[in-house]
Amino acid sequence: FHHRPTFSKLLVVVAAASSGGLVAYADANPDHALESTRVPARKKVLVLGTGWAGTSFLKNVDTSLYDVQVISPRNYFAFTPLLPSVTCGTVEPRSIVEPIRNIIRKKGGDIEFWEAECFKIDPANKKVHCRSDIGANLDGSNEFQVDYDYLVIAIGAKSNTFNTPGVEENCHFLKEIEDAQQIRRSVMDCFERANLPNLDEEERKKNLHFVIVGGGPTGVEFAAELHDFVSEDLSKLYPTIRDLVKISVIEAGEHILTMFDKRITKFAEEKFRRDGIDVKTEFKVIKVSNKDITMTNKSTGEVSVPYGMAVWSTGIGTRPVMIDLMKQIGQANRRVLATDEWLRVQGCDGVYALGDCATISQRKVMEDISEIFKVADKDNSGTLTVKEIQDVLQDICIRYPQVELYLKSKQMRDIVDLLNDSKGNAVKESVELDIEEFTKALANVDSQVKTLPATAQVAAQQGNYLARCFNRMEYSEENPEGPLRIRETGRHRFRPFRYKHLGQFAPLGGEQTAAQLPGDWISIGHSSQWLWYSVYASKQVSWRTRALVITDWTRRFIFGRDSSQI
Ligand code: FAD
Repeated sequence: FHHRPTFSKLLVVVAAASSGGLVAYADANPDHALESTRVPARKKVLVLGTGWAGTSFLKNVDTSLYDVQVISPRNYFAFTPLLPSVTCGTVEPRSIVEPIRNIIRKKGGDIEFWEAECFKIDPANKKVHCRSDIGANLDGSNEFQVDYDYLVIAIGAKSNTFNTPGVEENCHFLKEIEDAQQIRRSVMDCFERANLPNLDEEERKKNLHFVIVGGGPTGVEFAAELHDFVSEDLSKLYPTIRDLVKISVIEAGEHILTMFDKRITKFAEEKFRRDGIDVKTEFKVIKVSNKDITMTNKSTGEVSVPYGMAVWSTGIGTRPVMIDLMKQIGQANRRVLATDEWLRVQGCDGVYALGDCATISQRKVMEDISEIFKVADKDNSGTLTVKEIQDVLQDICIRYPQVELYLKSKQMRDIVDLLNDSKGNAVKESVELDIEEFTKALANVDSQVKTLPATAQVAAQQGNYLARCFNRMEYSEENPEGPLRIRETGRHRFRPFRYKHLGQFAPLGGEQTAAQLPGDWISIGHSSQWLWYSVYASKQVSWRTRALVITDWTRRFIFGRDSSQI
């Protein structure tokens, strides 16, 4: 990507100098402003959210080209991968947050920030409706509206309870800084309660039963952190009750950490067993009361277990404001808002969605492929000429590189065989092709092409990609860089978003981490733990948080974790 702002700024300066300062914004007296020399108003870009996607966009967008405004109910960015460490005091909450105004200041302060929550998006009128919890005007209203030219929706997702009764009321979630702080206090409450003199052993055991529902990366990392906290620190402080502590991980699937390589899953399950963490797989939680968690399993049927503290970590769901938007634009039947590969929300002019609140629709991909076929089959006969088929395939491969793999597969070879003789020379002018069948077959392959994971890596890359597109908007209008549009000669302005997977970690406690790096390179153990420390220190958004996090790790090594309840 090349930037042109310097060049355009230069032009403005030259224009201002040669016109004797008549450029509207360069002259304080409005009478002197000439209509013909007025600089057009900058377009307004409104960003919703200050998480991974929103912050990455803000850090990379060229604020000299747009009026950028940000709305978010929290005035900071949180480094979520270290949230599990906050639950047990390994890292302090303030060490993993960066005030959004610090980030704005570093950009030259050219961005407006309002601490509020957007509760309605109105794409027809290009407006968003917001509410602020911290202030009302003289009429007592705490709501306001903001209009936009471009809207960047990066509001993330909420925890998904699958409507399981009692979860909202009785379980902790691990999504925000406040959640981690509450968990930390709750762990200490459980220990202090279990230590009271008036409790019998059963009651002490109940209080010291920590249940984690969901065996994904977050649940597993929290279980490992908690185990370390108990075995390294709390067992020394509560010697009389330390043997009563139990940590359980309940997972509905066959294994924990299913998104990782099988070797990692196996290692994690074995390590947890050795550590005494009870991993219950194929158990589905159906109800949570303030005393028990009820779950079912094919062989045991329904069982209820008493618990002291429960953390619910079974994945993410859509926020109400997004559900409302999806209803407005005809996506009510979907689970997550769908965008195309340029992160545009279809049917909304100038609206982009990225990060956990949206997904690049695979169905959209299939609709496009069907469309390519329909357009190619001009006489609606289901028959395409050899040339037409070649064009169709070329269109598909340019637009969707992931389909290219499939086209090398058997289905494709069958078609090529139909067209060519054994030496590969074309023998037929045209071929009967059941378009519907072929599209269906492609759809199957496409569903195997996994949708992008809801991770910070994806969100940050999308924010960066979109900012770069915005920075080149004008230039790419004249010099498009994207693939050909379907069946048209023109090109798309931009290349579609492509995700680059850089690997993933699963910290398993006891200074051991499993790392799965690109090329399916697996490393498990103490060396990966050091890799984890280095990567997470380097990925911090500022030198301030980097220094704080490293200091916290060092403090923990020397003095252990802090068990006070403040
Ligand atoms: P978020 O980062 O959640 O940001 C959403 C933003 O929108 C927030 O600022 C929020 O305040 C704001 N917002 C919410 N509602 C509104 C509204 N109505 N109006 C305006 N603003 C709103 N990913 C990894 O890649 N690696 C990891 O190791 C990893 N570990 C994780 C550990 C935990 C405990 C958790 C919870 C997540 C982890 N993730 C990890 C996932 C990662 O955090 C998310 O995928 C990522 O945060 C998504 O970024 P986002 O910008 O879409 O949403």
